[in-house]
Amino acid sequence: MLYNGVAPDDHSFPSGIKACANMGRHDVGMSMHCRSVKSAMNVSVYVGSSLVDMYAKCGELGYARKLFDEMPERNVVSWSGMIYGYAQMGEDNEALGLFKRALEGGLSLNDFTFSSVIRVCGNSTLLELGRQMHNLCVKMNCDSSCFVGSSLISLYSKCGVVGNAYRVFDEVVDKNLGMWNAMLIACAQHGHSKKVFELFERMKSCRMKPNFITFLCVLYACSHAGLVKEGNFYFRLMKEYGIEPGYQHYASMVDLLGRAGKLQEAMKIIREMPIQPTESVWGALLTGCRLHGETELAAYAADRILELGSVSSGFHVLLSNAYAAVGRYEEAAKARKMLRDRGVKKETGLSWIEEGNRVHTFAAGERQHFRSKEIYEKLGELENEIERAGYIMDTSQVLRAVGNEEKSEAIRYHSERLAIAFALITFPPERPIRVMKNLRVCGDCHTAIKFMSKCTGRLIIVRDNKRFHHFSDGECSCGDYWNVFMKDELGVKIAQIAVPAAMALAADLLLL
Ligand SMILES: [Zn+2]
Ligand SMILES: [Zn+2]
Repeated sequence: MLYNGVAPDDHSFPSGIKACANMGRHDVGMSMHCRSVKSAMNVSVYVGSSLVDMYAKCGELGYARKLFDEMPERNVVSWSGMIYGYAQMGEDNEALGLFKRALEGGLSLNDFTFSSVIRVCGNSTLLELGRQMHNLCVKMNCDSSCFVGSSLISLYSKCGVVGNAYRVFDEVVDKNLGMWNAMLIACAQHGHSKKVFELFERMKSCRMKPNFITFLCVLYACSHAGLVKEGNFYFRLMKEYGIEPGYQHYASMVDLLGRAGKLQEAMKIIREMPIQPTESVWGALLTGCRLHGETELAAYAADRILELGSVSSGFHVLLSNAYAAVGRYEEAAKARKMLRDRGVKKETGLSWIEEGNRVHTFAAGERQHFRSKEIYEKLGELENEIERAGYIMDTSQVLRAVGNEEKSEAIRYHSERLAIAFALITFPPERPIRVMKNLRVCGDCHTAIKFMSKCTGRLIIVRDNKRFHHFSDGECSCGDYWNVFMKDELGVKIAQIAVPAAMALAADLLLL
């Protein structure tokens, strides 16, 4: 067009800019931006909105916001583009704040806007707010959109209400691949392995072609349930679909074989990998070796991890133990020292629980909450009860599993226990107790909560930074699988701790 001397207008600019957004090329987008300024096309609401949308999608939030603020007129594209940008970068406060402004201004919102805001709710595990958004979507006829559907599935799954996720999935008639994958991830997160296979079969009958993520979920499910035969089958099936396995798929396979004690087969997979094995692949082998007492191979895997250079936190202890088991004490000490030198982040263990439109946050051993006295009384009562039922406190676990994260003397008052006690004195008896936690649940709390679920007859759901634990009648849905170290290969980034400011905003929104 340009060579032929045809000046782009307010229709051609948005198309070109949109293409840049899709390709993630804000550099090309920026030259179109310049061009539009030269021809004064940038004042058009269509051109301006597409620019905001493009910068936001490319993660250039500063540019996006500047344009957004300076626009003489905004439309649904500029609003949802901006909200999407914030949501994607994890700027939850900004996303919710803008959404509130849009809602108050009576602007028409589309399914993209809702999808972004629901994602924010999911990331911050704001279940009540998310539910309100769901209601709004129904009112505004956006609930049959796949974008909204995928976000809702992920929201409900992250908040531990997987039943609702299934319902949303069934209600959307025209499902896209993103939605199928969202459902598969939800099933995998909650340990519903059988459901994963079922969905995979249903996908085939709907002529939906699985992708990279789909197979990751299926392999994860195989590994979780220890299904070697099925794992091999799906791993081979990937090739038939023309999908080249990534290191995550290899790690899942090695994990599966390693846990089943088929360490030579696991080694064979690693040897035949066309790509360089990563830390998580060797880590999976190491975990398998540890389970089956293969000390020599474990040390070999540990050597390979060290060769890769930087060692992620969490691996040091594993390495150290592997070396100690074969008598290589010097290296064992070195691995431990690496951990100390790195100054492992001492993140405070926090648990939080939603009650109405308030979120109550607890730290281990704290007494800040206005019902602290009752909470500690309840906890004492509960402790006696579970001890009578056979619970014995295990402090050794804490030191090994969480190190400095939470001090051992505070074990009886770990944050999740405070949150559960609070729920027990606050919630009606039939209401499930949902606790979110930013760190891993320690071994002792895991055992204690199993007993708590038995003694109180309550369903207790704890989401830690790795996965969900549904405690009921003395059992946990994770089947104690969490206990062995493994990197979360599903790539499901489970939420960061919700920002208190976002909470306040959320409470505001609920009142609208
Ligand atoms: Zn604990
Ligand atoms: Zn568990």
